[in-house]
Amino acid sequence: MKRAVFRAKVHLLMRQDLRAFQDMRRHEAMSETELSRLIDESSVRIALHAFDNSPFYRELYSEAGFSRADIAVADNFTRLPVVTKERLRAAGDTVLAQNIAPHRALLSQTGGSTGSPLRVRNDAAAPTAPMWWRIYRWWGIDPADDTAFVYRRLRQGKDAWLYAAQWWPSRHLLLDARAITEPSVEEFIEQWIRVKPRLLVAYVEGATAVAAHLERTGRKLSTTAVSVTAAMLQSGQRELLERAFGAPVFDTYRSAEIPWIAAECAAHDGLHVAADQRRIDIIDEDGNPVDAGVDGSIVATDFSNEVFPLVRYEMGDRSRTLPGRCACGRAFPRIAPVQGRIADAICTPSGKRVTGGLSGLFLSSPGAIRQMQIVQHADFSITLRYVAAAPDLADAAVMLAVRTLEDLLDGEVRVTPLAVDAIESTAGKARLVVSEVEG
Ligand SMILES: [Zn+2]
Repeated sequence: MKRAVFRAKVHLLMRQDLRAFQDMRRHEAMSETELSRLIDESSVRIALHAFDNSPFYRELYSEAGFSRADIAVADNFTRLPVVTKERLRAAGDTVLAQNIAPHRALLSQTGGSTGSPLRVRNDAAAPTAPMWWRIYRWWGIDPADDTAFVYRRLRQGKDAWLYAAQWWPSRHLLLDARAITEPSVEEFIEQWIRVKPRLLVAYVEGATAVAAHLERTGRKLSTTAVSVTAAMLQSGQRELLERAFGAPVFDTYRSAEIPWIAAECAAHDGLHVAADQRRIDIIDEDGNPVDAGVDGSIVATDFSNEVFPLVRYEMGDRSRTLPGRCACGRAFPRIAPVQGRIADAICTPSGKRVTGGLSGLFLSSPGAIRQMQIVQHADFSITLRYVAAAPDLADAAVMLAVRTLEDLLDGEVRVTPLAVDAIESTAGKARLVVSEVEG
């Protein structure tokens, strides 16, 4: 019934979205050859759009020696200059495309966890709803299904009422990730039992807080799928969430700048890039593409934002592409779960930097540790903070992790373990690495 009402509404009011959704379903079934042609065409189209309409990109590409004709060649795309957050911040409104109606520009602000906040614009004309409708289907979820969120509170007062009307008859319940207290979690659990949501969408840390509370009080909730975002999913957390909510956990990669970049399918074997909407390239420190399977910095291109083009935008995250085809059969390329932020690096006094791979420290004993945080102090010494899941297994796992870290740092840095009850998070996101080292 609910799904039928929702569908009727979509047919009446959201025809354009429905058409975009049907196109996306078609793209999902494409062969690798068809898909790579589509990616090439979309890459050239958005790069030319940026060059033609955005003063920032025209200057960036011209100064790097690219003419319009060069940009029109698909093979040149990976040679175009990378746009860093610093460059984007300095460029301000010169990034905006001049030929687009201003009402299409939706302000979006990124968090300041890795530096100062950044203002970008999302495109109101982008098919954002169909993007998540499609990904929900990968998880067995219908867009009309009741959904629980552990997220930032985005709407209040009149906006909240309009939002509810827009979603009617589906019910959405929210636990504000920035205000998780025992009473608010209890209220959320009560609503959950009444509404029985089929999907939980949450920041990893927020979902973990609810799951830990459930486990402490000897309860479970049930749902069909749990989708997490905004922080690296540590393996102990995945287990805890799957236990507490009795459902598979799907990792997603999205950001305020570029929503819905990649998501796990039911095979849970890496994250599929939504390649008809977004492109991901992995580059080394000199900006050159790396081979499949090699770690590097993520450079993303949004094919559907014409207002504030993001072409070869360096996300500040690390990953690698996975070779071969996913068991689900989709030709969409896959990336490994996104590793620590570039800022999430630890180093030795002699200058060695370790980035990425740090989340795997407890992989050999996933049940022992729920969560960890690596704090590197100004004198380079490290405190390994951890939340034990199984106290009897934790000691051995921690000793092994300490030795592994010390080896990674060539024995130059002392690592001290510290058991804690919880890892602090900001707005529901916890940092894997906190570095107090200068520079
Ligand atoms: Zn798949």
